[in-house]
This record gives sequence, C-alpha cells and structure tokens, in this order.
Amino acid sequence: MNKKVVVIGAGIGGLGTAGLFAKKGYEVTVLEKNENLGGRANIFESDGYRFDMGPSWYLAPDLFEHFFSLMGERIEDHMDLVRLSPSYRIFFSKDPKPLDIHSDIAVDSATFEAIEPGSAERLRAYLKQSEYQYEVATQHFMYKNYDTVFDFFNRRVMTEGQKLSVFSKMHAFVSKFFKTRKLQQVMEYTMVFLGTSPYEAPALYNLMSHMDFNQGVFYPQGGFYELIKALARIAEKNGADLRTNSPVAEIIVDSGATKGVMLESKEFVEADIVISNADIQFTETKLLGEKWRTQPQKYWNKRVMAPSAFIMYLGVKEKLPNLIHHNLLFSEDWRKNFDDIYKDPRLPEEPSLYVCAPSVTDPSVAPEGRENLFVLVPIASDLQISAHEKDAYSEKVLARMEQEMDLPGLRKKIEYKRIYTVDNFAADYNAFKGTALGLAHTIWQTAIFRPNNRSKKVKNLFYVGAGTNPGIGTQICLISAELVYKRVHGIKSAEPLASI
Ligand SMILES: Cc1cc2nc3c(=O)[nH]c(=O)nc-3n(C[C@H](O)[C@H](O)[C@H](O)COP(=O)(O)OP(=O)(O)OC[C@H]3O[C@@H](n4cnc5c(N)ncnc54)[C@H](O)[C@@H]3O)c2cc1C
Repeated sequence: MNKKVVVIGAGIGGLGTAGLFAKKGYEVTVLEKNENLGGRANIFESDGYRFDMGPSWYLAPDLFEHFFSLMGERIEDHMDLVRLSPSYRIFFSKDPKPLDIHSDIAVDSATFEAIEPGSAERLRAYLKQSEYQYEVATQHFMYKNYDTVFDFFNRRVMTEGQKLSVFSKMHAFVSKFFKTRKLQQVMEYTMVFLGTSPYEAPALYNLMSHMDFNQGVFYPQGGFYELIKALARIAEKNGADLRTNSPVAEIIVDSGATKGVMLESKEFVEADIVISNADIQFTETKLLGEKWRTQPQKYWNKRVMAPSAFIMYLGVKEKLPNLIHHNLLFSEDWRKNFDDIYKDPRLPEEPSLYVCAPSVTDPSVAPEGRENLFVLVPIASDLQISAHEKDAYSEKVLARMEQEMDLPGLRKKIEYKRIYTVDNFAADYNAFKGTALGLAHTIWQTAIFRPNNRSKKVKNLFYVGAGTNPGIGTQICLISAELVYKRVHGIKSAEPLASI
C-alpha cells in the first residue's frame, strides 16, 4: 500500500486521519498552514504562562481510549489524565451560592434535591436515559457513514427514534424532568459545546449529560495540548510527515479526480487521495474551482453557524481561591443569551460565561503563586468588533466576573491579557464568519443532514473534522477520522472498528 495521501490541516481530525492511514501503510503528508499543529486546539506561551487556546474539557474518555487502542497505543503511555473533583462549579447571576457538580450521583442528587424537592429521583432517571442514548449513539449511529436518507431513517431510528428523543427539542425534554431555571440550565449548558441552543438542539443530545455527570471530567497534566503532542507522535511513529507553515492554495483536479495540492509557495504535492481537515466551507469555496464544488456558496450562506467566542487569556498575579478548574456563570435570562447569539446577534449585555483556571490543577501553566485564566463568552459568529469595542467588552466581562463570581479587585491583579475573537478565528483557521466551532448541531445539520465526508464532484477527495460527521468536539473529530478511514475503505459498519 504505497498510495499517497495528503491531509490538509493538522487539527485533531487531520492528525487522527494521518495516524490511521499511516498505520495502514499509506504514504501520508499533512500540510498545516499555521506554525503549530492542533488546529483550534492550539497553544501559546507568554510572560511565563502557557495557554491552551481552545478545548479544555476532556470528556468521554472511552472515545479517546478507543482511538488510541485502534492505533495500538495505551493512553497512559502518552498522557497523565487527572479526574477533576469537583468536576465544575456553577455561579448563578445575583445568587451568592455557587453549586458544585461532582459527577458522583450520591452527591449530585443531594445537591439537586436541595434546589428542587423531588429532583434527586428525576436526576437518576434522566441520567439513565442519557447513558442509554450515549450507548446507542456510540454503538449504532456515530461511527456510521450516511449516504442516503434511508441509511439514517432506518428501522432502528424509526422504532427507537421516540425513545432516543431524536425528534423533540432539548429544552422541552429537560423541562419534563426539572422545573427550576437553575436545574434546567445545569442540564442544558452543554448545548453550547455543540454550537447550538437548547431551544434548537434535538433532545438526543442529552447524551452529553452522560459525559459530564456519569463519566466525569478529566484533564491531561501539562495541558490539553498534550493530546495534540500524543496524536502527532503516534502519526509520526507510523511514518506520517507533518509539515507546518504549509498553507494549501488549491486542490488540483484533473478529469474529475484529485491529483494533489498546490501550496501557496507554489510547491505541488502529489496525492492519490486528498483529505481536507480545513473547514469544509473554506475547502469547497476557496480551494476548489466552481465546477468541482459539491455545494455553492449560497448553500453555506443558509447554514446555521456555531457561535464564535470572545476569549480572554489572562495572567493573574495572585491565586483566586474562589475558582476551581472549571467555572461557569449563568445569567438569569438564559433565553436572551441564546437570542443574542442566534436571533439578534450582538455582544450579550449580561453574558453567561466560562472560566477555566488550569493552574488550580497544574502548576506548570503559570508562574508560582499565579493563576492562568481562560475566559470565554459565546457570541454570534460574523460580529464585527472594533478594537475599542473589544477593550470595552473585556472591561465589562471582567467587572461582571468580579461581582458575580466574587472576585473583588480582579482587574487590578491582571498582569497579562490577550483578547481573541471572531476575526482571529477567521484569520487563523479560515473559519467561515469567524465561527469558533463550525456548523451548529441543529436537527437539520445532524447525521444525514450534515455535509458528507466525501466530495460528490471530485473522486478521491474527502473531508474530516468538526464540519462533517459526527461533528464538533475533540473526541468526536477522532470519530470523524475513523469515518473517513471507513469511507475510503468501503467499510459500511455502524459500530467502531475493532482493528485497522
Ligand atoms: C475556544 C474553543 C473551545 C473548545 N472547547 C472544547 C472542549 O472543551 N472540549 C472539546 O472536546 N472540544 C472543544 N472545542 C471543539 C474542538 O476543539 C474542535 O471541535 C476540534 O478541535 C476541531 O478539530 P478539527 O479536526 O475540525 O480541526 P480544526 O481544529 O478546525 O483544524 C483545522 C486545521 O486546518 C488548517 N487549515 C485551514 N486552512 C488551511 C489551508 N489552506 N492549508 C493548510 N491548513 C489549513 C487550520 O489552520 C487548522 O489547523 C473547542 C473549540 C474552541 C474553538
């Protein structure tokens, strides 16, 4: 097997694909435009702080384990995973008492019961359902390539669809179990991870609660980038050539088949198979001539993009004992938060936000006695934000953190600050409308309705990553790598591969 494979982009999907194809014996070259591998799971260092720029929640460890074992590797030989306890802390706006989730049913059900009498039992029932959905999804849906609606709307979906809540909305589903706003927010916040809102997402995604409540939240010591180092190490060990600072300018097509790619430097890299991990909208509309696009630009204009993000990387010169590793602040008007993203795009007036303080767990990410903070406010994609607005919004968010998360004087303690938002995502990752995550997981952008991982027009051109199936998320993009591997090899099975 000395076929040449070129992978455009070294995000998690690209690195995973490189590993799988290299292990199978292909000659694999990965071409990444940026100076770092990892795509949105990027990293930078400044002033003694080391910041993971993107993902920070290591969830669903079984899915990572599956990928590593497929590659013949043991995860513990590559990463030192710590289970966080508590898993995360939630601050509620205008409420002095934060709530900790422990991913321990005895503790968490008591927490729920104290907020809403009778909810302990309902939490157990809810999590049973989430576990069931997770099992069915990972064993029967997520590892399957879809080609026609009949692949998806098969007997299993039609008979189990109701049980799997494919056809109802997340908020309506959660409301059947929990009546208070607080508990509804706790069960719904993970929809933001999927780039969608609980008012739009299919209730099927309550499987996310199985991840954070039942399986727990993990952290690779050293930082999330340890995962990228591991994936790169494994791909290289199997012979893949990983090239950074190598932006691809064009996918070369001849007689309906791809022959390779042309770099911006004008170097031609020959290939029998091209797999693009760059965002699909970008690949289709910028790297291919019009004739070779599966979908025109107007198709993309109609898609619902996942939010972008207003991110601050902060170096704080004191420890902040009020924070744990993962912290969330939920605003009172939850629906308005989502409307500010999807219906009436603007910088949210009273944003819900996420603060990661990895230095609580990992002394290597900040100088001694200091805190490394990653602050993220989900915002609409395609917002134009001037430099002045960025500064003003940053002040507003920090003031909100001081007040609502009991962090008095936070602003005075900041010794390093970098803002990263819509325009950065667009420039760094060729992200359409500066989306942070890609295509939102609405019902019409799930499974058969999500862009296929194969070009309909160009033979031997494939796609991998968050924009195709199954979708957004670090471990999910590793499934996407397995799906493109299955696609190329004509493997139609629905379950995860046992070997390659
Ligand atoms: C802020 C943030 C927080 C997140 N938090 C979490 C989390 O906590 N947990 C979780 O599981 N997931 C999280 N995610 C989602 C997860 O990180 C992504 O879904 C996943 O990393 C995307 O991987 P991908 O395979 O789609 O590739 P991407 O990361 O999108 O990488 C694509 C690569 O293609 C490259 N590229 C683009 N154009 C070209 C070109 N012309 N030539 C060569 N290369 C090119 C880009 O530079 C990039 O490196 C988060 C994402 C973000 C942005």
